[in-house]
Amino acid sequence: MIHKQKIAILGAGESGAGTAILAKKEGFEVFVSDFGKIKEKYKSVLEELKVEWEEGGHTESKLLDADIIMKSPGIPDSATIVKKLVSQGIPVVSEIEFASKYTDAKIIAITGSNGKTTTTKWIHHILKNARISAGIAGNVGDSFAKQVAEEKFDWYVLELSSFQLDGIVDFKPHIAVLTNITPDHLDRYNYNLDEYVASKFRITKNQTEEDFFIYDADDNIITEWLNTHSVRAQKLPFSLQKKLEKGAYLEDNNIKINTLNTQFIMPTSSIALEGKHNTKNAMAASTVANLLKIRKETIRASMEGFQAVEHRLEKVLKINNVLYINDSKATNINATYYALDSMESETIWIVGGVDKGNNYSELLPLVNEKVKAIICLGVDNSRIFEAFGNCVDIMVETQFMEEAIKIAYKLGEKGNVVLLSPACASFDLFENYEDRGRQFKDAVRNL
Ligand code: ADP
Repeated sequence: MIHKQKIAILGAGESGAGTAILAKKEGFEVFVSDFGKIKEKYKSVLEELKVEWEEGGHTESKLLDADIIMKSPGIPDSATIVKKLVSQGIPVVSEIEFASKYTDAKIIAITGSNGKTTTTKWIHHILKNARISAGIAGNVGDSFAKQVAEEKFDWYVLELSSFQLDGIVDFKPHIAVLTNITPDHLDRYNYNLDEYVASKFRITKNQTEEDFFIYDADDNIITEWLNTHSVRAQKLPFSLQKKLEKGAYLEDNNIKINTLNTQFIMPTSSIALEGKHNTKNAMAASTVANLLKIRKETIRASMEGFQAVEHRLEKVLKINNVLYINDSKATNINATYYALDSMESETIWIVGGVDKGNNYSELLPLVNEKVKAIICLGVDNSRIFEAFGNCVDIMVETQFMEEAIKIAYKLGEKGNVVLLSPACASFDLFENYEDRGRQFKDAVRNL
């Protein structure tokens, strides 16, 4: 009898349940183990598949018996069980690695500290408009493995976090996009920026000369790494600051793109999303589209017609000529920097939450220039008061979104903007950033 390959899946969230579906389909004997409590929706997937599963702890003997382990991205390498499995020589891979073995589709993979979701969705939007068969998966929400099991596409657009990249071995995207790198999640990288940077660059490690690597040439961390390491893929940089021979750059308020000897020009004013960061995202997305030889008219239309992704500089409502913007996904300084940078009117800024060791001084010039009042929305706002206390006349704090919006409403004058861009994680007062963004929108709509 042929030995049935055994896979053990650590973590039963989106990645774990998706991997279980694909592994079962591919004939593996599947065992799923979650240290915590498994959500009902994933439990029912496992029940339906009739695979063995456990929650509230790991049965080591069963895990050690596996031929391969799929580790969900939320579980750190430092977890005792992971260390043990690795020390026994059992291959521990990510869902992305596992699933990529079972599809012939070409892959466009996007990583970076900020802008991943926006760029991923934008690329998918263009591909859809060009009638190219393409799935969208990964960190953006849906499991890649599940899609590989259940659907057939010619292309996949995958948003990848550094945690997802850590578990790859042979995974090779035909086109890789690195949007930017700023310090984030350092707790998972021994508080060592180099380790985090190396993790992001894993996206290109298996690429060859036929593949493409698209990256932000204005990002010093990226360019420094490229100065000291080689990349086999063809490099296509994008820049807001310098003219480039290949890739995308700005000239006279036009984006110019030059790949594979085809050129493409479009005015920045016609890009649907505002802000310099979105011009960069647009450059990355249209460089991908240009590589795929998508018609210029289709790319242009897709640049013009793309809607902001929820919670990312999302315009909610205008009340008494005051615009309310939800940027709840801005959970770090860099994202908030670009949000403030793109504000064109006097701003009432709602900020705060769980501070991941923020260096607020980077925001000082923008706050001095654009912000008229600060509303701190967090349990501990002391560092924000310390950083910006001297910049504005009005600075208040609250732990309730509704109250924050009422204060903002009172302060708002014709032409002002009320911006929720917290620069912090949300877990002190909200379930997650989506909950924070939704509460913001509800409170605004109830005004
Ligand atoms: P990610 O998926 O990497 O978290 P998102 O597209 O969800 O990125 O955006 C997260 C936050 O970062 C939002 O506040 C958004 O406005 C901001 N942002 C989007 N693109 C960029 C970029 N290229 N550089 C910096 N910040 C960005």
